[in-house]
Amino acid sequence: MITEFVTVTSPDSPDAQRKLAHAGQILRDGGLVIFPTETVYGLGGDATNSAAAAAIYAAKGRPGDNPLIIHIAEPQDAARYTYTCALYDRLARAFMPGPLTVILRSRGCIPLTVRAGLDTVAVRCPSHPVAHALIAAAGVPIAAPSANLSGKPSPTCAAHVRDDMNGRVDMIIDGGEAQVGLESTIVKIEDDGSLLLLRPGGITVEDLRQVVDHVKIAPAVTAKLAEGEKVLSPGMKYRHYAPTAPVYLLNGSEEERFAYLEKTSGKCALLCYNDEKDTFSKLFAENDLYLIGTRQNLREQAHRLFYVLREADKAGYDAIYAPLPPREGLGLALYNRMIRAAAYQIIDLHK
Ligand code: AMP
Ligand code: MG
Repeated sequence: MITEFVTVTSPDSPDAQRKLAHAGQILRDGGLVIFPTETVYGLGGDATNSAAAAAIYAAKGRPGDNPLIIHIAEPQDAARYTYTCALYDRLARAFMPGPLTVILRSRGCIPLTVRAGLDTVAVRCPSHPVAHALIAAAGVPIAAPSANLSGKPSPTCAAHVRDDMNGRVDMIIDGGEAQVGLESTIVKIEDDGSLLLLRPGGITVEDLRQVVDHVKIAPAVTAKLAEGEKVLSPGMKYRHYAPTAPVYLLNGSEEERFAYLEKTSGKCALLCYNDEKDTFSKLFAENDLYLIGTRQNLREQAHRLFYVLREADKAGYDAIYAPLPPREGLGLALYNRMIRAAAYQIIDLHK
């Protein structure tokens, strides 16, 4: 398949509108279009078309039991495909459009292929203007997982999309760098009316608790599932977000990490905070040190994490070391992604 590349950074010009109308037609015809969102790039197909959903799984090499999020133009569109409720409306008012996905009971019109056989549908209303304009141009909801090959870190720029997806989709829309850099927060509205966090993201638990009294956190967010344990969000059971090289998370201070890394051998990469550069340049060549942002700025770290993991992967390392993120605020999302990227290999350096 020949992949068409277009650039659309803002949807307003006549040229952008022409490109988006063309992309919308591709989607209505059952084709696949990769588009920018505020979280990461999405690999889109018509969410009402079972064959388009099957093509998404095939293009990504994604297991068929891992359902897709459907992207809608307006928060109220969720009511066409799912049974919404007062809690959904409250979440929508507070966080939509934006990086929040809500899982609701299905009305049945979204095909089983999209839902991976579940009786629920995950809905999200993205805030990126190009994503919004594309959904409107398509005139159908867009089913879209992250636009990476299954298991790899999600792409946050068009160059990384191209590395994985050139020749696998009809069109790639370059809309610049994704702002958040991590996938959406996923919550499920339980039958008893409580809210369960399945995947942390740009909307933090603290943000949710400003609006909803009871927010539970699914155990799989911070821990490895036990053998045979039921998984509520199928995507959380796989080794995921992972470079080819093994990743090790170091739980310790700058000094403790330095002492540990002094004894390692082989071609290794280190992810570290910006202010640690001088310390770790004593052990690592400049090319092998990947700065993830200032220590206190979790937004900057979220924005850079997947970019850095994918860049490090291209260099072909024996191992990649990274600091274990804190679990507060946006740190919980970083922690959740990093333990999967590391296949739960955490090295505890605290004495
Ligand atoms: P991605 O599209 O790569 O961001 O992954 C989508 C995530 O949403 C995966 O972790 C899925 O398991 C999860 N998901 C999508 N639909 C549902 C659903 N109906 N119930 C639970 N999790 C879902
Ligand atoms: Mg993904």
